[in-house]
Amino acid sequence: MSPLAIVVHYHELWLKGGNRRFFASKLASNLRFALTGIPIEKISRPNDRLIVHLGESASVEEALRRIGRVSGIAYYALARPVARDIEALCAAAWEEIEPLAFSTFAVRAKRSDKSFPHNSSRIERVVGRFLLDRLAAVGRNARVKLNDPDVTCRIEITSGPALVYACKIPGPGGLPANTAGKMTCLLSGGFDSAVAAYQMMKRGAHLSFVHFYGTGARPGESSVHVARELLRQLVPWQFTAKLYRVPFEEIQREIVRYAPEACRVLLYRRMMLRIAEVFARRNRALALITGDSLGQVASQTLRNIVSVEAAATMPVFRPLAGTDKLEIIETARKIGTHDISSEPFHDCCPIFLPRSPALHAKPAELEAAEARLDIPRLVSQGVRSATLETFRYVGDRVQSVESLPKPRQNAALA
Ligand code: ATP
Ligand code: MG
Repeated sequence: MSPLAIVVHYHELWLKGGNRRFFASKLASNLRFALTGIPIEKISRPNDRLIVHLGESASVEEALRRIGRVSGIAYYALARPVARDIEALCAAAWEEIEPLAFSTFAVRAKRSDKSFPHNSSRIERVVGRFLLDRLAAVGRNARVKLNDPDVTCRIEITSGPALVYACKIPGPGGLPANTAGKMTCLLSGGFDSAVAAYQMMKRGAHLSFVHFYGTGARPGESSVHVARELLRQLVPWQFTAKLYRVPFEEIQREIVRYAPEACRVLLYRRMMLRIAEVFARRNRALALITGDSLGQVASQTLRNIVSVEAAATMPVFRPLAGTDKLEIIETARKIGTHDISSEPFHDCCPIFLPRSPALHAKPAELEAAEARLDIPRLVSQGVRSATLETFRYVGDRVQSVESLPKPRQNAALA
């Protein structure tokens, strides 16, 4: 029999009406890219699913593992290719469900090739009857339940071999990568911003990243290596990503020198947003992302969040605004950023921390607190001193290239 196939079911895409074709073809090309280096015969698209036909020498485990990081997938399954006759379907269905523990089951058939002599409901009835008889013969007590059964044995009649599978693997959900436009994420080394980035990539946004670091770190302590490691973990979700690294300590020193102590952290954040916006524009991103979570720390009270945001001219998305730290940490574990964010590193923000930070600053107060700062000069200083690293995920490897960020004309002051 021909090599194995992986059946991929879309997620949410049925919502998209007329755009469905666009999303499905983007998902197919993302799958193809994610599987680079693994022999694939073809990816077919019968009805509302995709079928990845693996080549003879393909590693099944590797293919399944990589598909687990392709967003837009509700679930996927390794399918058994079977000759297109009803006895063979019955035998394969039995092999699929026999090792599973269940008390209710259903058989679901789909015929994308209508030349097969039996229609879907007849296939379901015949195979279902066969399975019931075999289960009874081996003394197992199971019954058919069409609505929400413990196990569903699926049969797909394609123009090639028929496919039979019963073990679904949950996919990551979301929408296909790189379908929702561009955004720029302020990435610290902590748990939150990496998870916030993942949430937005999963909704189809393509992100560039900006990381601010302290220059006072001793070798090996810098937060830059943490940001880079996070990027290596995040880039497979969207295949390419830029990381702008901005030395921030000199800018912080000016804030410390010329602004009231209680507002320092909020002013750091406002400068971060302004500098990140320049890189966002350079990448044609339409919005910023931060890992803020309402009330998590003093700088994230509702009033402070609003007053910090007032310094930005672009919308700021905060996908974790309503998420608890424990849920954030759970997602960080799932996407592999948890251990990286747990590493100790020299963070730029805690330095010169005020003894008693402002809890409910108003935008006008922060503007007044910035009165003695030369904001355009500081923004341009941050932008000009940044370095750029470009990451690319291909063939299950992450490559990165260092380069100087290329300023577009007047971009620093844009
Ligand atoms: P995280 O929120 O990622 O766990 P954190 O807790 O150190 O890191 P917060 O003080 O909660 O950061 O900062 C709120 C948000 O501000 C971060 O989620 C991130 O988007 C942004 N931010 C903070 N520090 C930095 C930094 N050094 N570089 C880039 N963005 C930062
Ligand atoms: Mg945080």
